[in-house]
Amino acid sequence: MPTEPELREAICEVGRRLWMRSQVAANDGNISARMADGTILCTPSGVSKGFMEPGQLVRLTPDGRVIGDGRPSSEAMLHLVCYCARRDVHGVVHAHPPYATAFAALGCALPTRYLTEIAVSLWEVPCTEFARPGTTEVAEVALPMLATADAFLLRNHGPVTVGRDVWEAHHRMEWVEQGAQVAAIIAQIGGAEPFSAEQLDELRSIRADLGLGVDPGDHNPSGCIERIAEGWGRRAGRASTAPTQE
Ligand SMILES: [Zn+2]
Repeated sequence: MPTEPELREAICEVGRRLWMRSQVAANDGNISARMADGTILCTPSGVSKGFMEPGQLVRLTPDGRVIGDGRPSSEAMLHLVCYCARRDVHGVVHAHPPYATAFAALGCALPTRYLTEIAVSLWEVPCTEFARPGTTEVAEVALPMLATADAFLLRNHGPVTVGRDVWEAHHRMEWVEQGAQVAAIIAQIGGAEPFSAEQLDELRSIRADLGLGVDPGDHNPSGCIERIAEGWGRRAGRASTAPTQE
């Protein structure tokens, strides 16, 4: 496992790459990583992801209590629910890359049946119901996605990716955006044939050989929303307004 300083630097580097590639605007987006002791390092509220310093990151208990100083991202509950529901997840990235975010605005799953790399690496990128940003609703709509997906779209908001570390989550965000961009281009130039059932079977077996996909043994959503909402000082299912939208 990486050390805390290594994880802090990795999160800042992922933030710089998201910002450099116009996948976040202003203070948008949030990134986190789970440390060896189970605590979470999360990006702070109100800071551009292109200009973060390692010391600005906020450390949280698994149920969202701040350890030390700092104000975590208003979407920290989204990250906490990913860690709570999936023991294999040690990195989470949320950003607003334009093509994937356009699909989120349409409220439809990302097309993943045109490109081998996207199908093998992601398989599916479903879209949630609408949730008000900065509220427990975001964690609530994200929770069912985590049963089968390593990437999903928050409706009218943007994509979320998880990974075994923060770099894998970031790579998946890159695939999500590239897959969305290619799908948009395909639509513009007249469409393309998606994979056949036989091709999908072959891609599914490649994916299995690579050990990709959610292991049911890694997924346990029970009690996550209640635990996180309690730790965060909010009641599950009840919205509260966040100071900033990220
Ligand atoms: Zn956002």
